[in-house]
Amino acid sequence: MVDYEKKELLYRGKAKEMFATNVSDVVWVHYMDQVTALNGKKKVQMTDKGTTNNQISSLIFSDLTANGIPNDFIKQIDANNQLVKKVQIIPLEVVIRNFASSSFERKFAVDHLLKFEQPVKEFFYKSDKLDDPFINDSQIKALNIATQQQLDQMRDLALKINQRLRTIFAAMQIELIDFKVEFGLDQTGEIILADEISPDSCRLVDQKTKESLDKDVFRKGLGELVPVYKTVLQRLQKVEGHN
Ligand code: 5GP
Repeated sequence: MVDYEKKELLYRGKAKEMFATNVSDVVWVHYMDQVTALNGKKKVQMTDKGTTNNQISSLIFSDLTANGIPNDFIKQIDANNQLVKKVQIIPLEVVIRNFASSSFERKFAVDHLLKFEQPVKEFFYKSDKLDDPFINDSQIKALNIATQQQLDQMRDLALKINQRLRTIFAAMQIELIDFKVEFGLDQTGEIILADEISPDSCRLVDQKTKESLDKDVFRKGLGELVPVYKTVLQRLQKVEGHN
C-alpha cells in the first residue's frame, strides 16, 4: 500500500484545489468550503460545503466505476480530500438536459421544465475570460480541442452517465433536470470522466415538493445551501448502502 503525501499546489479552482503527490500520476484534490456563481463573481465561504460535496462526488464516482464508466476517481481520503488519477482536462463542459431550464429556457423561450423526449447534448468551451461560450462540433475541431471520435465518445459517455444518474436520483425521489461533466485524457490517451458530480454541477428537483436541491438555491438566493446539499447526501448514502 502506497502512503500518499500531499506536495505542491498545482491549481486552485473555484471550489477545489489540486496538489501533486509523491506519485507522479496521482493528484490530491481538496474540496473547499466555498461556493461561487456567475463565473466566480458571487463567492461565499460556507462551513461543511466542501466535505458534503466531496462525499457526494466520491459516492457517485464509485457508483459509476461499478457501472462501467471510466473515470479518474481513486479514493476518498478524509472529509475534504480525495485522490484522483492525473488527467489532461479537455477544455469542454458537456451538458446533458432532460428538462428545459436556465440558459436553454431563456434561449428558446420554452416552458420551465419542458420534458425532452431525448436528452439534449451541448458543449461549452471552458474559458472564464469568455464566460464559457456554447461551441459546436465544427468549432471544436477548428480549434483542435478534440477530434470527431473524441466528441462522439464524450457524448456517448455523457449519455450513459445520464442514464445511471437518473436511476440513482429517482431512487432518492429526485428528478435530474440537467448536469455538466468534464472529461480528461489519462496517461494512455483514453477519455475518462473527471472533475466532480455534485449539486454544484447538477440541477436537481425534489419529485414531491418540486424544491431545488442544488446550486440554484445559492444562485437565486432561495435559502441556505449546505442543509440542502446535506439532504442530497443523506438520501444518496441511503441508496448507496452507506448508512
Ligand atoms: P445552464 O447552461 O442551464 O446554465 O447549466 C446546465 C447545467 O450545467 C446545470 O446543471 C449547471 O449547474 C451546469 N453547469 C453549467 N456551467 C457550469 C459551470 O461552469 N460550473 C458548474 N459546476 N456547473 C455548470
